[in-house]
Amino acid sequence: MKRKFIKKTGFALLLFLTVLICGSIFVYADETKNEKIVYDFYEDGSGKDIISDEVNLNDKNNIAKDKNYYRYNSESNLYRSVNMKISQVGVDLIKEFEGCSLTAYKATSSEQYYTIGYGHYGADVSAGMKITQKQAEDMLKSDLVRFEKNVNDFLSQYSITINQNQFDALVSFTYNLGNIWKKYDTFDLKTYLINGVSKYSDEQVTAAFTRWNRAGGKVLEGLTRRRKAEASLFLHGNTDDCTCSESYAGYYVCTAASALNIRNGHGGSIIGTIPSGAEVYVSKADGHWAHITYKGIKGCASLKYLKKQKAKQVSAMSGVKLAGRAGDALRINWNTNKSASGYIIEQYKGGKWTRIARIANNNTKTYRVERLTCSTTYKFRIRGFNFEHNKPIYGSFSYVSGRTNPKVVTGLRIGGKAKDALRINWNKVNGASGYIVERYDNGRWIRIARIADVNTQTLRISKLKTNTTYKFRIRAFDFDGKTPLYGATVGITGRTQP
Ligand SMILES: [Zn+2]
Repeated sequence: MKRKFIKKTGFALLLFLTVLICGSIFVYADETKNEKIVYDFYEDGSGKDIISDEVNLNDKNNIAKDKNYYRYNSESNLYRSVNMKISQVGVDLIKEFEGCSLTAYKATSSEQYYTIGYGHYGADVSAGMKITQKQAEDMLKSDLVRFEKNVNDFLSQYSITINQNQFDALVSFTYNLGNIWKKYDTFDLKTYLINGVSKYSDEQVTAAFTRWNRAGGKVLEGLTRRRKAEASLFLHGNTDDCTCSESYAGYYVCTAASALNIRNGHGGSIIGTIPSGAEVYVSKADGHWAHITYKGIKGCASLKYLKKQKAKQVSAMSGVKLAGRAGDALRINWNTNKSASGYIIEQYKGGKWTRIARIANNNTKTYRVERLTCSTTYKFRIRGFNFEHNKPIYGSFSYVSGRTNPKVVTGLRIGGKAKDALRINWNKVNGASGYIVERYDNGRWIRIARIADVNTQTLRISKLKTNTTYKFRIRAFDFDGKTPLYGATVGITGRTQP
């Protein structure tokens, strides 16, 4: 039946009846028959008046809350899962695999009856029987009613809601295998449907179809192909019948006042609803209809009530700098990144970047990298992370490098004494650039030597007074770029000879 929304004459009546029936069921009039039919209405073909897909979920009388979605339960016209009809897509699939013979034949000589038309098999087909193409089509049509009912009965028994593609696939499956739903208590496909197919992977569902590829104990290639085609239709639907563009892909929010219908195609029958404010993923759309996934239900919804969300982004880090150093540690600071929920810090080690910290708090603004080696330059990078729909997203890396301080000088000793001089010796500090030597004089430390050669391990301090005690201290120095770095000081006292 062609449903058409009467915009002029029907509007007052529509409004009246809409109020009368609590707003969730809308009125349609079939112009050709001049009948008043209670129906949900949908986009009228112009692509503009997609106003009816808003449903009122607060209306408890008309809608029952299901496990995963809402479903009409008071209006049989809308309760499609129990009374679905195969679509042309399904019929075409059956025709393709059954083939058509206008003369009766036996597929294998062991078969009891003859086959004719699109795989019509039974006692009513006799040897030598001939039919017209029209008769073949009619036979298929009347056979399909029986197989549709087999599938509908099964779906009703377990309150299973599936979309049109899935129904088409199951009718094709049943057309080939008979009323398998009643014949067997359990088999994978039946189990998956009862438990909810969204709980199973595409591979599992495909395998549940393709295991039914034998006839007389032998695997038939044609049956395998058919099962794969059915599985594909079941899982992904027919993607050739619309020209929707993936440029619409992304996450959207439902803006309907209460809820938005999910349909099994562009303007198809209702298979679920999306509550207001819920988030859905749109894979493609044509400007009027969007292909959505919501809580495991795949279908189409009016794009008019879906608002695209800006993709979340993590901005680049700012204020990343080396904020402190020691011989065995470096401290990195950064500014709070509000677009991040935390930070990842990596260190360049052995030719690759290695994660050294994941900080799950965006208020933390500092990190001390410990257990480092003295006088060594380290490279680090940091980026913010966050999550969008449980998927981690990252900002770009900011880089910082830093060199640890030189090691403390060891082995400091008085290496020689004279009346006017003292010699100090020490061990080499690997990695440093040189040494600073200071003498304590009149209450303060005075630099007496800067030795810019790391291999020098001795210094003679002359022009000293006889028989006097002197205090010295020494530390290694180094550079990080132009920044001078110093090791900790170590001191010694010595007395000149009398
Ligand atoms: Zn489409």
